[in-house]
Amino acid sequence: MNIILLGPPGAGKGTQARILEDERGMVQLSTGDMLREARTSGTEMGQKVAAIMDAGQLVTDEIVIGLIEEKLQSTEGNGFIFDGFPRTLPQADALGELLKANGQGLNAVVAMQVDDEALVARITARSTCGNCGEVYNDQTKPQPANGKCSNCGASDFRRRADDNEESLKTRLMEYYKKTSPLLGYYYAKGDLRTVDGLGEIDAVKAEISGVLG
Ligand code: ADP
Ligand code: ZN
Repeated sequence: MNIILLGPPGAGKGTQARILEDERGMVQLSTGDMLREARTSGTEMGQKVAAIMDAGQLVTDEIVIGLIEEKLQSTEGNGFIFDGFPRTLPQADALGELLKANGQGLNAVVAMQVDDEALVARITARSTCGNCGEVYNDQTKPQPANGKCSNCGASDFRRRADDNEESLKTRLMEYYKKTSPLLGYYYAKGDLRTVDGLGEIDAVKAEISGVLG
């Protein structure tokens, strides 16, 4: 089964993708994570996209489509969870073509709905474990008082450079201008399933299970 998690920044796509990986053996393909990895490893492409990402703008379709193409060729798993990709109509077309070329298709596009105020609150409170990717929230799931990640024990909490109010405004604008048209695109294809992303992590998880069957 191949699915897309679609929604604005802060909707909880990454959190749910990790759960689906654990429970169903699916493989998360997050272009955001791939781009951050390229930055850390200091590749030429990573350096090129760093300023764009920190400002909250989208990197070019060519770059992210190339990343996805590479991963699809090199990765085996019990289906893919596309997280943060596609973000534009050309990316959506390209994904359809790439899957088709591999004799595959999309089973569902899960749209996670969250209102804008909640997004801002979530993102500005967010931090993650640099070792295992566990996500923390200053209000709802604070970093443990002993300074160690509850999942892996590492002491390497990080905040993303683009998780500030200024970049977030740009990310939201990019979402509404370039990504939200995908809701109509996948609705018309008959693939769209909508869930309420505002609830507790477990409640959202249950809703997603419900629409995936
Ligand atoms: P978010 O929390 O905003 O959903 P991501 O981790 O998915 O964050 O992405 C972080 C940044 O990486 C984006 O703001 C953008 O600059 C870049 N990026 C990630 N995926 C894409 C994509 N599919 N197309 C263009 N840019 C992307
Ligand atoms: Zn950890």
